[in-house]
Amino acid sequence: MTQWVYSFGAGHNEGRAEMRNLLGGKGANLAEMASIGLPVPPGFTITTEVCTAYYANGERYPDDLDAQLRAGLARIEAAVGNSFGDHHKPLLVSVRSGARVSMPGMMDTVLNLGLNDATVEGLVAASGDARFAWDSYRRFIQMYGSVVLGVDHHRFEEIIEHIKLDTGKNEDTELTAAEWHRVVHGYKEMVQEVTGHPFPQDPWEQLWGAITAVFGSWQNQRAVTYRRLNDIPAEWGTAVNVQAMVFGNMGEDCATGVCFTRDPSTGENIFYGEYLINAQGEDVVAGIRTPQPMAQLKAKPDERSMELAMPKAYAELVEVRATLERHYRDMQDIEFTVQSNKLYMLQTRSGKRTAAASLKIAVDMAREGLIDNTEAVKRVNPAALDQLLHPTLDPKAKRKVLAKGLPASPGAASGIVVFSADEAEARAQKGESVILVRIETSPEDIHGMHAAKGILTTRGGMTSHAAVVARGMGRPCVAGCGGVSVDYSNQVLSSGGVQVRGGEILTIDGGTGEVFVGPVAMIEPQLSGDFATLMEWADQVRRMKVRANAETPLDAETARKFGAEGIGLCRTEHMFFDPARIGAVRQMILAETEQGRRAALARLLPFQRQDFIDLFGIMAGLPVTIRLLDPPLHEFLPHSDAEIAEVATSLGANVDDMRRRAQDLSEANPMLGHRGCRLGISYPEIYEMQARAIFEAACQIGKDTHKPPHPEIMIPLVATRRELEITRAQIDRVAQEVFAEVGYHVEYSVGTMIELPRACLTADAIAEAADFFSFGTNDLTQTTFGLSRDDAGKFLPLYIEKGIFPKDPFVSIDPDGVGALVRIAAEKGRGVKADIKLGICGEHGGDPSSITFCESVGLDYVSCSPYRVPVARLAAAQAALASGGGVDRTA
Ligand code: PEP
Ligand code: MG
Repeated sequence: MTQWVYSFGAGHNEGRAEMRNLLGGKGANLAEMASIGLPVPPGFTITTEVCTAYYANGERYPDDLDAQLRAGLARIEAAVGNSFGDHHKPLLVSVRSGARVSMPGMMDTVLNLGLNDATVEGLVAASGDARFAWDSYRRFIQMYGSVVLGVDHHRFEEIIEHIKLDTGKNEDTELTAAEWHRVVHGYKEMVQEVTGHPFPQDPWEQLWGAITAVFGSWQNQRAVTYRRLNDIPAEWGTAVNVQAMVFGNMGEDCATGVCFTRDPSTGENIFYGEYLINAQGEDVVAGIRTPQPMAQLKAKPDERSMELAMPKAYAELVEVRATLERHYRDMQDIEFTVQSNKLYMLQTRSGKRTAAASLKIAVDMAREGLIDNTEAVKRVNPAALDQLLHPTLDPKAKRKVLAKGLPASPGAASGIVVFSADEAEARAQKGESVILVRIETSPEDIHGMHAAKGILTTRGGMTSHAAVVARGMGRPCVAGCGGVSVDYSNQVLSSGGVQVRGGEILTIDGGTGEVFVGPVAMIEPQLSGDFATLMEWADQVRRMKVRANAETPLDAETARKFGAEGIGLCRTEHMFFDPARIGAVRQMILAETEQGRRAALARLLPFQRQDFIDLFGIMAGLPVTIRLLDPPLHEFLPHSDAEIAEVATSLGANVDDMRRRAQDLSEANPMLGHRGCRLGISYPEIYEMQARAIFEAACQIGKDTHKPPHPEIMIPLVATRRELEITRAQIDRVAQEVFAEVGYHVEYSVGTMIELPRACLTADAIAEAADFFSFGTNDLTQTTFGLSRDDAGKFLPLYIEKGIFPKDPFVSIDPDGVGALVRIAAEKGRGVKADIKLGICGEHGGDPSSITFCESVGLDYVSCSPYRVPVARLAAAQAALASGGGVDRTA
């Protein structure tokens, strides 16, 4: 026989906390609390399996449920000493939903069930309080009427309003027993009129009605939407808890409250919450009366804490708090009721908390000995950690939302609106805070993005140029904000009829994608203390290394500060846009002959050499992976007539010829065009110059410090082994030349990005020519899905909303497609070279669920933007712990 009903309380506990799948979170925890000796009113839980069976059988209950329900109820009656439907000593129960995971406010509850025209008199006699009894009865009719019978709640409110008008009273609290009696009468008449049936008087009919309504609420629109948004499968079902009522509204020695065992916004170890004297749970949340604080320490002068008002019950609750934290080893969110000075626990669950609180609670609990350091590492959500590394909006600050785009790079920023990178730079130099607003950004905007406090674009997705660069620089960014239109010529942006002009203030929240008009107050991040401690603990268990994607000295220094163990991707093209170099870069591209290109490259060489000297210096002793030039050449082209004329002069060429050459270079589909190693093969002198700069820098550092760096040179967009062999041979040749010239030599490696499906499928052949692979999952996602990185923002949100893609594949690696290719490449690569070093440097390298995937493939390192390094350190630690392969470096 299937057990459908599990009792708890009064010494008969059939459930445990671990049974939450069967009993729901609330039921499992009620049983657990009762079994550790806490005061829980007796009751029983109808399992989630009943819900599933009910829906599977065309909304019919299992045959033997009725008998089990009656046995459960009989146990409650025996424990309380009251009987269901008894005219003198009636048992009243609550009926509440309770799913596996909490779904706040999504499903229904009925309180005071068991009251009818006869039992209400019994309650009058038992409580000695007629007003309380009639108020309870009307509350019951109201809840049951709206939840079970579907009567609009306004109909109930109208009746109360009518009686208040009639008696000249303003507040519910002023109504007398006789007046509540009149309300009950009015309610019953109205229910009969609306439903065509009298209000049910039989407690068993009431109970079945309430149970069915709770199971029914599993399928209401609110709950269905909530489940969809939170990935909760419909098959889980909800449980139903039936429990003896206790009353917090039976007089001044009664109360009810909701609290957290620690402060859920700061994590401070203080009893935090609210209670109300002479009230039922719904009154605390309804907002009609102002709840009062628990601890005296938190009370304002005009408030009355529970500590002061009900010292005995408070003291008991303080003990319960300690017991619960010791038992659950986590911060709890609890509900309680005090009836005639006696405390009852109605709920406990793990409390929701802010990122800051979750960090503090985890570290504090480890220090208090409640959990160990490893457990603390598991407790903090890496994605939430991101919030702590940037300024965030003060939750208390007032704000006016203008529009919403993609949360492309976290943190918040306020500043005056500017529409060009040059203006951003000029105004920032004068000490102004600016928000750079562009339809989209291009590599030429980098100086303005760097100067800006935040970036807003109206086009582009999560791996658009703006998003990638902003994350790399740690600048907050809202991308693809399609609701905003930008008019460059009139220097104005508008959304929903609101206009913001250049020079006016805008605030963006890159963590939510929201854009606000005017300034909003901020909170600064804290990187020392608990944060540093947790990072240290994470580092002790992680297996994968964490590197950063960085090219400027500033980014490299930031990366070190955040704990990066090297550079996993230095995108050298980002070094080419510096105003001091772009002229030479353009000269190189537009030169029609090798000789012309070599002349321009010779001008670039000293800059590149210095770049690498700086990077090697900052990353002293750590690996630095330098990727040779990747993007299509036309990205560097001059646009304006003046720029074209300037390059023409420098090359001694004719302006029209220059324009024609620029046109020749433009491509219909540049991301699949003349870029990456294809450039290095067509114009070998480019990679030669870069390789020379790297080796000269490495030798110089080696000579100066006697600690030579070990450069890792990476070739982009390789599809075939031959491409790698050709470029590798060029590099090896330059290395020998430089070593001979300077009379010094350094160790180096040559490897490749794996960012094309063909490279994955032929990774065994490619591995023969490579010392390492770094998965470029941005391009790999683009080419596997056939989805443009820069244009997908137009329809990707719809795909995600409709569930066609579970997540944005540019943010979180697609394990079945892109991930499968990564796995194939890793296996094939290792099959040929067991010790080939494997890493990832696409944006996924900073995404916690993608990092879990990387651990499962056994990659050696992940590389991400500097500001995500701590997130990656924590995610890598959690991934190692979850796979059971954590490394304990504490010993
Ligand atoms: C990639 O494609 O994943 C990568 C890291 O290179 P980029 O983003 O520069 O194309
Ligand atoms: Mg790439």
